[in-house]
Order: sequence, then structure tokens, then C-alpha cells
Amino acid sequence: MIQTWLDPWLPVHPPRAPRARLQPPSNHYSVRDLFLPNKTGWNEDLIRELVHEDDVNLILTQKLSQSQNKDYLGWHYTEDGKYNVKSGYWLGTHLPNPDPAILPPGDPQLKSQIWNLNTPPKIKHFLWRMLSKALAVNTELERRRIVTDSYCRRCVTMRETTDHLFFTCSHARQIWRASSIPLPCLSNPQVPYETKIKEIFEFHKNAGKDTLQGQLPLLILWRIWRSRNNLVFQRRQYGWWRDLRDASHDAEEWITHGINNQSSTTSMTSAPSCPHQRRWKKPRPGWIKCNYDGSFVNQNNGATAAWIIRDNSGVYKGAAQATGVNVTSAFEAECQSLILAMQQLWVKGYRRVIFEGDCKLLVNVLNGSTTKFDAINWIQEIQDWGKKFEAIEYSWAHRSTNQPADILAKNQRNALSPYLVHFYIPVCISNALFLDYIGSA
Ligand SMILES: [Zn+2]
Repeated sequence: MIQTWLDPWLPVHPPRAPRARLQPPSNHYSVRDLFLPNKTGWNEDLIRELVHEDDVNLILTQKLSQSQNKDYLGWHYTEDGKYNVKSGYWLGTHLPNPDPAILPPGDPQLKSQIWNLNTPPKIKHFLWRMLSKALAVNTELERRRIVTDSYCRRCVTMRETTDHLFFTCSHARQIWRASSIPLPCLSNPQVPYETKIKEIFEFHKNAGKDTLQGQLPLLILWRIWRSRNNLVFQRRQYGWWRDLRDASHDAEEWITHGINNQSSTTSMTSAPSCPHQRRWKKPRPGWIKCNYDGSFVNQNNGATAAWIIRDNSGVYKGAAQATGVNVTSAFEAECQSLILAMQQLWVKGYRRVIFEGDCKLLVNVLNGSTTKFDAINWIQEIQDWGKKFEAIEYSWAHRSTNQPADILAKNQRNALSPYLVHFYIPVCISNALFLDYIGSA
């Protein structure tokens, strides 16, 4: 079976696959799919829809066998289709210089790096479209005469090029600045956007592909695009801080749970209409609830942890934040924060506790519904601490209902002391705690 977009089946020099008009369809078409249903000829309409206009005739002029033969892979440079050394030598000395006019847009080497990124598939496709100049930014639409006005809808002072939208518009600049990603070239309008993307790919690799820092720039790009579309198509304007927050949530979600947050569109639009679905629940009478969270930056910095203690009336009983040892993953950071929380609650004399965290995998492992072999020592330590309590439960909460612990754990990243116990409600979580309190009433 010859694959339409991969195999070099067009009879040009050198033979190659046809170029797609926009983006190769994700299901792999074989060349056979381009035939008419009765296989008597090419399906011209379909070909014109999918294939770059310059290649359409190359396909249509190829004669199809009228009897059903098997595909035959031949050597293009000899009459009989069989390879020989002489023709191989000829090919080696006659390969044309790639002509920029006929190559698909974008740096092929840079595009090929996309598939080595550790990021959700939808982000890879989005980056592929960006680097192939297939994102419908206004200047691109103007070039294709789809729109007449190419100004950026956000700042309305500059034309919306890819570079402007993602890097040099004030909205984008704010996000990059606040993200503290150490790539000063990003805000420089003199640097072409492909170079910036190259720097981001490098950074992704060097910061660690499964670290928050390594993930963040890729997800920022995605959020800027989403936010731009919300503005253009739905007239919804989001502040830069919201895009940054969503990008870092996406990043955490991906490295902690490997979740390709496909449903984020639906969850974001449905969240306001059903605010009661995700809310913090008070523990049953006789129990204390401890919400914990771990925060992982990279292997060279201690993971941080935080936990909040509340009773069955939802009343705050204390909180703490701590910096633990260096760990190798977000999962281990979760384990460590749980252990630190268990130790402190035990010392404070609590004996019937529900420990609630937002890492589903960890909760499932602790409840015995799955295993995680490479974290066996962490799990063992948690279970040993668990045995000291009279009664213990491990429950899972969606990230959005574990906000106070999440905020406090991140707050610890900038803390001067490795361990802080809060008898009073820390200011940074007072709002989130208040929302939990009224939500659970
Ligand atoms: Zn702008």
C-alpha cells in the first residue's frame, strides 16, 4: 500500500510525495483513497481539495492501471524500474538543490523537531500549522485575500503577524515576562519568529521535557492562540494573566496526569453554568480533612509542598508549606507533600484524617486500584505513616477544588524558610478558602 503523504510516488526528479494543500489529513490516506469509488480513475474533486495546486496535475496525469494489479515499487531512474549502480551514481550527482519555491512553507528541519517534543498531540499539530504558515493570522488571511484589514484585534496598532501575535504584542509580552522564562530574544521584533520557536524547542529540551518549566512555553503559545480566537470569534477578552494561568495549569495537568486536556473548551464554557459540580466537600463528623499538594519545578530544586487542615464544619484549623528534597517528577513531589502532611498532622494529634490531593494516579495507587513500580519506595513510606493513624482515607479532588493547597505550594517556591506553619489563614489563600467555605455550606 502506498501512503499518499509519505511515499515518494510522484514521477518527478527526485520522486517525492505530493504536498498537502493545508495539512495532511491525520488518518493516513493511501494513494488508493484518491481513486474514484469504482477505481476507474482519479477522484479529481478530492485531489483538488487535499493536494497543493502545483501537484494536482502531476497526479491527474498519471495513468492508472485498468486491471487490479498490486502496487509496484520501482526505481525511477532506469527504464525497467530496477536499480543499478550507474543510475544511482547519476542520481547522487544530479540531485537538484532544493528550490525554495516548490518546498512547502516553513523550515523542514525545525518542523521535524516537533515530533520529538513531549507535549499533547493537539499542541504538536498546532505548532506544525504555525511553522507551515497555516495558522489563520490576519496577515496570512490578507495575503489570501480573505480579509482586507490585518490589524491585531488586541492592540489595534500593529498588523497581526505570527511574530506579533505570539511574541511582540503587549498581551504576549506581558505573558512571557511574567512567565519568567529566561529567553530575552522572544520580545525582540528583530528576531524572526522561527528563531524564537527554535529557542523555545531548545529550552524545552534543556529545562527537561517533563518539567513545568520545559512545558510552559509550548502551552503559552497554545493559550495565546486560543485566547486570540476567543477574542476574534466570540468577542471574549481574557487578561494576559488568565492565559498564563491556564497555560501553567495545562502544563501541570500534562506532566502530572499525562492528560491531553482536549475537553478544556467544554469545561471552561460549562464551568460557570454549573459551579456546584466541583467544590470542596467538608469531611464527615469525627473526621479532619487535609488537602495537600506538591509542586515540582525541576530536578535541581527541592519540590515544594503545602497542606490545609479543616474540620467537619469547614473551619480552618491550620496550614503549612515546606520545601522538601529534590525529586525527579511531579508524581514524586505529590508523594513527598503527602508524607510531610501526614507527619505534621500526626504530630498535632489528629488520628482520623481524609487526605485529599489532586493527583489521581497517586490516589489510585494508595487505594490499591493500580500500581506504580518506579515509585514503590515512596508508596511504602506513605503506607507506613498511614498505619500510625486510627483511620485514614485517601481521596481525589479535581485541581480546581484543591486550589488553596496548590496556591500555597507554589508560594513556597519563593519562600525564605524551608518550613512555615500557619496558625492564621495566609493572605494568599484567604480568598480561595472563603470560596470553599461558602461553596460547601
Ligand atoms: Zn497586538
